[in-house]
Formats: sequence, structure tokens, C-alpha cells
Amino acid sequence: MSQKIKVKTTLVEMDGDEMTRIMWQMVKDKLLFPYLDMNIDYYDLHVKHRDDTDDQVTVNAAKAIMKYGVGIKCATITPNEDRVKEYTLKKAWKSPNGTIRSMLDGTVFRKPILVNNIKPAVSAWKKPITIGRHAYGDVYSNTEFAVPAAGKLELVFTPRESGKQISIPVFDFPGPGIAQVNHNLDQSILSFARACFTYALSEKIDLWFSTKDTISKIYDAGFRDIFDREFEQNWKDKFQTAGIEYFFTLIDDAVARIMKIEGGILWALKNYDGDVLSDMIASANGSLAMMTSVLVSPNGWFEYEAAHGTVQKHYYKHLQGEETSSNSMALIFAWTGGLRKRGELDGTPDVVEFADILEAAALATIEEGIMTGDLLALAENKQVNRKVNTEGFIDAIAVNLQKKLNG
Ligand code: NAP
Ligand code: MG
Repeated sequence: MSQKIKVKTTLVEMDGDEMTRIMWQMVKDKLLFPYLDMNIDYYDLHVKHRDDTDDQVTVNAAKAIMKYGVGIKCATITPNEDRVKEYTLKKAWKSPNGTIRSMLDGTVFRKPILVNNIKPAVSAWKKPITIGRHAYGDVYSNTEFAVPAAGKLELVFTPRESGKQISIPVFDFPGPGIAQVNHNLDQSILSFARACFTYALSEKIDLWFSTKDTISKIYDAGFRDIFDREFEQNWKDKFQTAGIEYFFTLIDDAVARIMKIEGGILWALKNYDGDVLSDMIASANGSLAMMTSVLVSPNGWFEYEAAHGTVQKHYYKHLQGEETSSNSMALIFAWTGGLRKRGELDGTPDVVEFADILEAAALATIEEGIMTGDLLALAENKQVNRKVNTEGFIDAIAVNLQKKLNG
């Protein structure tokens, strides 16, 4: 190819840690920079650099996404005590993903990458099932209480203005027991609903939402009502024009139905349901390295990344000079997702087309039988499959990409 494709608006890039940092650089050098003319606003979220800047670099990266609209992020270490020692950090800084998510007020959507030589565990599934998980409230910010002895448990609410307390009886305990209080915010649920409607429309797929509204007549039914109202007011016409549907059903019904459908939907779930069911969907599709993740903010900002972490074990092998066979698919799809979105927002179809071609080249590589170790055990046609190392996989994709670009 003679001339590079111009990406009109600046892209926000967030570099990361360990094995994914190594793959990240290879992906840029071999699959992106030779073909694209990009302005990049670069933030180095390497754990040591976060430490050096007292984590200001993470905040600056989130602000840059708010400025430009699209960010692409490598996996990063969330420091715990072991990491504080390993990297001699000042403290165990918060998860960068958590910091960015709370600044963008986003919802995370996870979508598996499907290839035709790895069959999902559920034979009906032909298209990806994307999970949209609400990332606020429920058991993750609950209040728990170990009831010590017989007695009455009550909830007391004190309105800020009137101060007039309302007390709600919970249970008259005949003896010791346990109790839990969950909460959520209308505004957070509304943001979640908007992010789900935005995502379904941008992907042109049906949206399912399910809760236990028959049993939880205020909490779960409250989620349903906010979704319903928002849909009727702001999305119904847009969905009709796009030929897609919004569908609410009881979670039991959704779980049963999901096993029988082709896929190709967005399934919106409350925090706990999404936590559990996204792991089920990931496992049914094979490998963590084949799961993409995008944070969609109700303000129209997007952050693309791989769902997996920094692949720490492979990195330690790499440091010891051993060969690794780490899978860069989800990292590549973070870039293509971000580039495609950038192209759509900028009105530059050649950028969208490049993203499509790169994805097709990556999928074709695996479908030809060239794959990393994690996929080798799962893939069909064992006799033709060949395991390659981390760099060999990206090189093979580069060959296919060049072929496809040459037409
Ligand atoms: P991980 O990096 O997701 O890796 C867990 C295991 O999954 C790996 O050991 C490997 O299995 C397999 N795997 C994941 N990605 C793979 C890939 N691209 N290619 C091949 N195999 C892959 O999780 P972790 O080791 O528990 O966490 C490491 C670090 O990542 C932690 O410091 C954590 O804080 C961070 N993390 C970051 C994010 C993020 O930035 N979004 C998310 C999760 C975790 P085998 O060892 O069996 O080959
Ligand atoms: Mg989980």
C-alpha cells in the first residue's frame, strides 16, 4: 500500500503492563503503524509510571477520553500488597479501570470473538452474545449485619430536608441470623439503561434486559420501570428504524431462552447477575483471550480494551527467556473497535474498512489453523493446526493483512 490511511481525530492510547505491554507494542509496530497515519495522545499506565505520578496519569487519560471521545487501553496491573513489593510502589493504587469507569460513568460490554473452528459449548450459539453489566450497587456496596440474637430488625431512613424518620420493619428474628441491605440510584440505573440502548443501536442488535421483578417488586421492578420509561421516551423510534427490539423478561426466562437462541444480542444484567453470567458466557466461548470489552459512557465516550489481564504468568516465563504463546486477539480487537468507532464518528469510511480488514485477517489466521497455545486445545481440525509463539501469531496476521490490503 502506498499511502497511509488518515485517522482524522486524535486517539487516546493507554499503555499497560507485563505481557500485554509487549504484545501491545508488537501490534502497533506490525499491524497499525505501517498502514495508519494517527495522532495519538499517549498515556503510559505502566504501574511504575502511575506510581511516579501518584496516579495522576490515569486521571489525565480519562480526561483525554472525555476530550476526544475514543480511548484504547492495554491491560494494567491493579496493585495489591504483592505488587507493591514487586515494583516498590508508594501504595496499592486503585484499579485504573475503576478510576476511569467512575470518571466516564460508564457501562462495560463484553463480547466474545467467534471463529468457525472453535465451537461454543452451547451448540445453538452462532453469533456473539454480548453482556452489559451494570457496574454500580447491589451486593458490591451492601451493608451486612450478623444478627447476634433474637430481636427486631428495622431499616430507618432520615430525609435530609424534613428529618422525619421512616422506619421499615425487616424481620422479627427468633434467634441469631444474618441480614443484608442493598441499594441503588435512579441516576445510575438510568445511565446504565442509556448505555445499553446506545450500544444495542450502535451494534444494531436486539437488547434483552432481565431481572427478578416478580419477586423483588420494588428493587428489581424499579430497574425494569426505568428501562421501560427511557425506552418509550427516547429510543423506541430509533430502534424501530434500525429494525431492532428491546425486550424485558424475567431472569429465569432469559437464562432458559439464551440456551436456545442463535446469539447476536446484547443481554443487559444487574451488577451481580452480570458478574456471574459474563463468566459463564466467556467460558462457553473458550478462552479469556477471545473476549473484548468496551466501556460506553452515557455521554458518548468509548474506551476499548481486552477483557483479560496482563497475563502475568506468561510474562515471568518471557523474563526468564522462555518462549511464550500468548494470544493477542482481544488486544487487536481493542484497537479495531476503537478505530472503527473513530471512523464512524469522524465519517471516515476508509478507517472503518481498515478495522474490518484487520479483524478479518486476524480471524482468518486462526481459521487457517495458526494459533496460540490457549486455542490449540479447543480448536477443531487438530491435524492442520499449528501452534505459534506470541510474535509468530502477530506476524502471521500481518501476512494475511498485507494480502487482504493488496486485494
Ligand atoms: P489474566 O492476565 O487475565 O490471566 C489469567 C490466565 O488466563 C493466564 O494465566 C492465562 O492462562 C490465561 N490468559 C489470559 N489472557 C491470555 C492471553 N492473551 N493469551 C493466552 N492466555 C491468556 O489474569 P491474572 O493473571 O489473574 O492477572 C494478571 C494481572 O492482570 C493482575 O495484576 C490484575 O490486576 C490484572 N488485570 C487487569 C485487567 C485489566 O486491565 N482490564 C483485568 C484483569 C486483571 P494460562 O496461564 O493457563 O496460560
Ligand atoms: Mg465474575
